[in-house]
Amino acid sequence: DPDPTLRPEAQPEDRDRALRPQHLQDFIGQPEARANLRVFIESARSRGEAMDHTLFHGPPGLGKTTLAQIVARELGVGFRMTSGPVLAKAGDLAAILTNLEPRDVLFIDEIHRMNAAVEEVLYPAMEDYELDLVIGEGPAARTVRIELQPFTLVGATTRLGLLTTPLRDRFGIPTRLNFYSTEDLETIVSANAVRLGVRMVGDGAAEIARRARGTPRIAGRLLRRVVDFAVVEGGGVVSRELADAALTRLGVDSLGLDGADRRYLALIAESYSGGPVGIETLSAALSESRDALEEVVEPYLLQQGLIQRTPRGRMLTQGAWAHLGLPVPRPPGQ
Ligand code: ADP
Repeated sequence: DPDPTLRPEAQPEDRDRALRPQHLQDFIGQPEARANLRVFIESARSRGEAMDHTLFHGPPGLGKTTLAQIVARELGVGFRMTSGPVLAKAGDLAAILTNLEPRDVLFIDEIHRMNAAVEEVLYPAMEDYELDLVIGEGPAARTVRIELQPFTLVGATTRLGLLTTPLRDRFGIPTRLNFYSTEDLETIVSANAVRLGVRMVGDGAAEIARRARGTPRIAGRLLRRVVDFAVVEGGGVVSRELADAALTRLGVDSLGLDGADRRYLALIAESYSGGPVGIETLSAALSESRDALEEVVEPYLLQQGLIQRTPRGRMLTQGAWAHLGLPVPRPPGQ
């Protein structure tokens, strides 16, 4: 089975922290997002106002949390962090909101998983920095309006489509994060290697970058594993050959696909002649949640052109057959 810590969503202990860029200028890649944020941060700072609410969306591990922290640091304000599933009751969010300092950044991860009652609280808070609290119960219940400090909500989601329209509309700055180019990932791997105090020679960094699924979090994980091999078997030096051998041993193939990706492709190839096959069927056959498939596995396979989404389900492309080393089956009747 593939090593679960190689999945982008896995965060066992946040060892990522040491490698997180602290300032916008150290954040590699995502040039559009960076350029826009620079303007909004600068403008908010010079006006002395809270920055407009910002939504980061894109697959896990691309830097949404990192950017949110950078925004707070560059604005010179406090950073509070919570997540959609953690906010069980309206009161949980109210407690956080009433404790914010002026112009603070409140980061809500997985904001698409917030429940409706909590979301209701967020609307007037985002719009007018106000909170409507219901005090008491039954006929004695009354609503109290509480003024909040101006703040910036930074939301993050892997599933933009699951956000309600009213919530989506309240973000002034929606920002999409894309998979990273191999060049950007190589820069990130090289910078992290320096921080970890390990020597890279030849195309060692490039090899890790190529196989990191377009994702900085995975690049960081792969680098650590490769460094382990380098320390024990390579005299502490990471070469392309050593990286290649280590990654292959870890089950990461030439495209950066891991065991879960290959199982997904092989299932469609072998059991469904390349598809189309519905997501629920795949989910049941692979014993993976539909969410995990849609949020983690499929985006990269789509981006690599290995699968297509059609109204009747998922289909393999020619490239997927080639990658699996299997002949493309002839369409029936030919
Ligand atoms: P997300 O919130 O989108 O899941 P994170 O912000 O937690 O992703 O980033 C995951 C890891 O990748 C962190 O260790 C972070 O330091 C690293 N990372 C993300 N983006 C970059 C980047 N542009 N440059 C360097 N490291 C990055």
